Amino acid sequence: MTFKELGLIDPILKALADKGYTHPTPIQRQAIPILLKGKDLLGSAQTGTGKTAAFTIPILQQIYDKVGSGKGKRKLKALIVTPTRELAIQIEDNVKEYSKYTGIQSTVIFGGVKQASQVQAMRKGVDVLTATPGRLLDLVKQGFIDLGTIEYLVLDEADQMLDMGFIHDIKKILKLVPHKRQSLFFSATMPKEIIDLSKLILGDFEKVSI
Ligand code: AMP
Repeated sequence: MTFKELGLIDPILKALADKGYTHPTPIQRQAIPILLKGKDLLGSAQTGTGKTAAFTIPILQQIYDKVGSGKGKRKLKALIVTPTRELAIQIEDNVKEYSKYTGIQSTVIFGGVKQASQVQAMRKGVDVLTATPGRLLDLVKQGFIDLGTIEYLVLDEADQMLDMGFIHDIKKILKLVPHKRQSLFFSATMPKEIIDLSKLILGDFEKVSI
């Protein structure tokens, strides 16, 4: 099975080729077809499995298919929420690499640094935003980010987010995003509280675990 056989479009295949990736990892093989159909996904997978590409690529492809390389006014379409600054930066690096031939714009926001350059990046127009919960809500409250246009929502490392006490922030974020959206939920472990949280986020979903 190759990436081409998964139905990926040329701009993304080209970016994958640049990285030297020819064959999808197991989670990519399982998740990409489900996500390209627009279904919600519950993924039980750890970092190191190729999880990031498994969720970013189908989102990028769907955005590209709908709006091409970005004519007209840009609005925020995808939100990826992740617990730590390190993970946020890693995800945004992946998004940038896989989207480099698509014209899709992306940025990352996280706490612990000044907000000015993050606000500036948002002002330029962003399609895909990766964020940690606290800073995201800060910037929403100040009016710099509108989550009302989100079509794709990813909750990454959900178990770690609960451990870090982000449950209230996550519930606030859920109130700000449209009900009609594609939702993706990833967690390395699946205790009851994580399953309960996933039910708040996912509609009719398919499950992938590796
Ligand atoms: P992740 O689980 O998303 O943190 O990915 C783990 C590592 O595998 C990262 O360095 C990725 O860039 C790399 N990777 C992701 N997909 C592939 C693939 N299909 N072939 C080879 N390496 C990959």
